[in-house]
Amino acid sequence: MLKGRCDLCAFHTVKFKLMNSFEGLHLSSPILQALKSKGYTEPTPVQLKAIPLILEGRDLFGSAQTGTGKTAAFALPLLQLMSNKAIRTHNVRTLVLAPTRELAIQIGDSFRDYGKNLGMRHVVVYGGVSQHQQTQTLRKGIDIIVATPGRLLDLMEQGFIKLNDVEFLVLDEADRMLDMGFIHDIKRIVAKVPVKRQTMLFSATIPSQIKKLAHDLLRNPVSVDIKPEFHELKMVKQQVYLVEKNDKTGLLCQLINSEPIGHALIFTRTRRGADKLVKALNLKGIRSQAIHGDKSQSQRQRVLADFKSKKVHMLIATDVASRGIDVKDLSHVINFDMPEGADTYTHRIGRTGRAGATGVAFSFCSREEQGLLKEIQRFSSEKISLVKHISPGRAAGDDSIRLDSDEPKRVGYGDRRNASHGDRKKVGFGERKKAGFGARKRIGYNDRPKVRYGETRKAG
Ligand code: AMP
Repeated sequence: MLKGRCDLCAFHTVKFKLMNSFEGLHLSSPILQALKSKGYTEPTPVQLKAIPLILEGRDLFGSAQTGTGKTAAFALPLLQLMSNKAIRTHNVRTLVLAPTRELAIQIGDSFRDYGKNLGMRHVVVYGGVSQHQQTQTLRKGIDIIVATPGRLLDLMEQGFIKLNDVEFLVLDEADRMLDMGFIHDIKRIVAKVPVKRQTMLFSATIPSQIKKLAHDLLRNPVSVDIKPEFHELKMVKQQVYLVEKNDKTGLLCQLINSEPIGHALIFTRTRRGADKLVKALNLKGIRSQAIHGDKSQSQRQRVLADFKSKKVHMLIATDVASRGIDVKDLSHVINFDMPEGADTYTHRIGRTGRAGATGVAFSFCSREEQGLLKEIQRFSSEKISLVKHISPGRAAGDDSIRLDSDEPKRVGYGDRRNASHGDRKKVGFGERKKAGFGARKRIGYNDRPKVRYGETRKAG
């Protein structure tokens, strides 16, 4: 991103400012006014890169994640292109496909806000609710449809939606759509969209299936890589707890009770895991709710509204359901289960530490998940602090062990008051029972195979 001021003269300073502004992107004044009322002062890097290319009419392949401002990166130029060429058709001109209802609603809200001075008509189409309201809106004629694939196909089959006049097609979070098994639906939908169109495909990750889809759908595309780098997460304090699988719930309760955790998004790998955790936390008097694909649409919306309004402070989510959740002032992200891959890690923890605020990301890594941690460490330019957690039942009198970390050491359950700095032992993974009280060993995280994982209990 262009930043800073020119040392040479006032003219260059003005030019820098202009290039780094929405005005410099040649957006029309109704759109600029809408952005002003949203309080956006300057474009994000993805907006700076993508908006001019889309305005030029290029197909775009964006490696982008939620949280980078990517919705505005495609919504703003599409609104402008549509309003420049005012074709009054009853049929849809811009079709956006999204994997989840939450994301679709959020994209719809963005089109509504950014296009509020343009008189564009939009509808969000998703399943799990009655179709009546959606079809009523469609009957009046529509410019923009944001849709999840299943309901869109339903309404197409019933004759409510015709895609003959689509000029702009966006596939958002394409990797998630494929993950969720939408590939055949997508192919059926795209087959009904005119070949002569402008297409944008966004995907946080680029597995081979996505490359193939991009190859099939895009025409001479320009790629924009707008993944947030790890260094863009510098406002997020990252800490990984090395913890036995069965001790994770205890550790979570301990952290919730000892840390000032205001508002936390907690990730589990499975829907069942999310429900189990909600039960366990509620039993401990910690009010929490889950959001995942097994919940009905109205349940998901209610849970999200409760979380946003801070009626509920702990939201347990799976990755799929969490896409599209955009909550301001999120103080903590907790990976109860380690994410699969550095992209997902970045994506999850990027939910906190936004807009200049600081955030904290805790990740709980069991021995089975060590490979996932290594993967994340390989991509991370930031040092991730590692903390060994030992539950009281497992190692009475001992504390958690800091491993190769420059963060202040944390102590385990029950040892907070007892442990003084002088007492703290630095021992390798699994050596804690051998090390006598007061024994001091400095062993880095990478050295831990000196005593193999699994020897902990035997050693005692
Ligand atoms: P997205 O990546 O599209 O989900 O956007 C993430 C968040 O950033 C949303 O809450 C947007 O409203 C917000 N946002 C998008 N562009 C800007 C901008 N230029 N300035 C400030 N906030 C923005």
